[in-house]
Amino acid sequence: MTTRREFLASATVAGTSLAVTGGLTSSLRATQPGPTVKNGAGDAHRGPCVIASGNGLRAVERAMELLRQGYDPADCVVQGVRIVEDDPEDMSVGYGGLPNEDGIVELDASVMHGPTHKSGAVGCLRNIRNPAQVALLVLRRTNHCLLVGDGALTFARQMGFAEQDLMTEKSRLAWLKWKANTSKDDFWLDDDQRDPPAGKTWDQDPAGRLSVVDTADVMRLTGTIHCSAVTATGDIAGCTTTSGLSWKIPGRLGDSPIIGAGNYCDNDVGSAGCTGRGESAIVNLSAYTMVMLMEQGKTPQEAATIAAKRMVDKAKEKRLKGPDGRPALGCSFYAVRKDGAYGAASIYDGSFAVADSTGARVLPTEALYSSKR
Ligand code: ASP
Repeated sequence: MTTRREFLASATVAGTSLAVTGGLTSSLRATQPGPTVKNGAGDAHRGPCVIASGNGLRAVERAMELLRQGYDPADCVVQGVRIVEDDPEDMSVGYGGLPNEDGIVELDASVMHGPTHKSGAVGCLRNIRNPAQVALLVLRRTNHCLLVGDGALTFARQMGFAEQDLMTEKSRLAWLKWKANTSKDDFWLDDDQRDPPAGKTWDQDPAGRLSVVDTADVMRLTGTIHCSAVTATGDIAGCTTTSGLSWKIPGRLGDSPIIGAGNYCDNDVGSAGCTGRGESAIVNLSAYTMVMLMEQGKTPQEAATIAAKRMVDKAKEKRLKGPDGRPALGCSFYAVRKDGAYGAASIYDGSFAVADSTGARVLPTEALYSSKR
């Protein structure tokens, strides 16, 4: 689970030395000295391929299975990520995803289809557990690219999607824990402001409502699934779906539904996406950047690593630097080329999933910095 969660706080990634991994490209050397990159083994791969964020092992397996059965690559990636959207244990996507600051789950997703160079996306979608499917219908059934909020929900209803409460008991308790500990100046008692009980407490009532007392600490979490696929004939699609940053301000859109930011593909070149701090992926147009870099001749691994470095270079706000000067943000970058070459990078240690001719597995990303202190 933790492989697809990237913490915002520098405290979780702080350290003193940079991780150095192999040779340095000239463009990187020009922009910033420090962490170096090497080409990943994925650059040598050719043929049908599906890549995803580290939480996407089941997704790439499923998408590859459908690819082999001749499905459109957009259907393959959407059905792949659906497994994670449906999983209540995954607290960053779909059902069971962590909610906004009001305790309401708002989901974002986008799909981009290479053969038609068309996208579909939904933002701030409530009550529908599979936003990627809704995004695919925006792509296929409308002349628009992005529907948000009530309009997205109305569209989903019209497409026959059933509404449901997307909070699980686990996500409700996580939100309650966060809410109660936000400030000592509000009327919610922080854990350390509550008096200990004089005896056993009734931790579970018949409705299954647990006391918040024993809930494990919850950090602000990010997490998302991105999945890109290339067919044997070089057709491409990409999809990114998320519940976004936990405890976000209601109405906030991240990078996942923004084409060019968290998801982008070009059927002549390849597909790319990212997971992590969406605001940074938006201002850097990270997914588009990776595809453009591949178009200019960079390998997928180089494209992903350059996009990661670019995000670090452009993190000018003082909040985005830790006390030790290391980046106080996390993001992972995934790229696949039309011929099946692939690569992934991250600011701090991360992982990605791939299904290629040799099967499905989770591999480490090329990290710019080590998460170890
Ligand atoms: N990129 C997502 C967002 O900012 C969150 C994540 O990937 O962890 O909404």
